[in-house]
Amino acid sequence: MLADLHTHTLASDGTLSPEQLVSHAVKAGVTMLSITDHDTVAAYRQFEKPHPEGIQLIPGIEFSSRWRNIGIHILGLNIDPDADSLLENVDRQISARHQRAEQIAAKLHKLGFHDTLNGAKQCAGDAAIGRPHFARYLTESGQVKDEQQAFKKFLGQGKSCDIRAVWPTPETLIESIRDAGGTAVLAHPAKYKLTNLRLEELAKDFLAAGGQGIETVSGKQPAALTDRLSRLANRHGLLASCGSDFHRPGQPWAALGAHNPLPASARPVWETW
Ligand code: AMP
Ligand code: MN
Ligand code: MN
Ligand code: MN
Repeated sequence: MLADLHTHTLASDGTLSPEQLVSHAVKAGVTMLSITDHDTVAAYRQFEKPHPEGIQLIPGIEFSSRWRNIGIHILGLNIDPDADSLLENVDRQISARHQRAEQIAAKLHKLGFHDTLNGAKQCAGDAAIGRPHFARYLTESGQVKDEQQAFKKFLGQGKSCDIRAVWPTPETLIESIRDAGGTAVLAHPAKYKLTNLRLEELAKDFLAAGGQGIETVSGKQPAALTDRLSRLANRHGLLASCGSDFHRPGQPWAALGAHNPLPASARPVWETW
């Protein structure tokens, strides 16, 4: 059994189609896969075969949210991707992404960059538009050295073009996940660069808002971090999830199914399904 419950496709900021992702995952030995694109479930409508063979597909999403003015991500796992209330929230999130893209472009314009809204929209195509599309356009048009630099200086957490005011509170999104029959999981808790105290507060607030789990393992991470997050989950009676956060081939730290297993003391999310 190898579960990878956090991956992206072309429907958001990944590079593989849903079919390609599934076939890569099968080759990597993944037996339970969730596609969790940012604020969209479009991937689940793009399969030619509704149930890919050789792998259990768990419908999912990665919602963008805001906690104390920090952008956080909430995974909805094992959702019904056709649930009305979920789709209403997805529509709102996609509108928020368009609104946010205009705000990001205005900020970049003030910094002297040009044509970024059109450029990012072209990079995004039909995908849910986001910061990675701005980073790609800025790089391809020669306005920054590379995508890393674009995030580090302008688009990354806490930088001037990191706009999160458009995102709803965790309560709203957790409710919509649970209404769709899913499990709400706080994604990659270590990525928000919080102190221990603040992470503890986030876990408490997440639980109080109806959240059910935390992503104890995200990609290749040190054993000490796995231990810390596992203890955090157990302290609050939260379930544990694991995933690669795969976006594209060639990133060894986020390769499909390459993350470490959950510790024996963890209560895996899938035990409740
Ligand atoms: P968005 O969904 O528009 O808020 O963009 C968030 C996505 O940008 C994340 O899911 C990552 O894929 C990517 N990202 C965030 N920070 C960085 C970074 N420092 N370097 C590269 N990619 C990043
Ligand atoms: Mn992403
Ligand atoms: Mn994320
Ligand atoms: Mn992700």
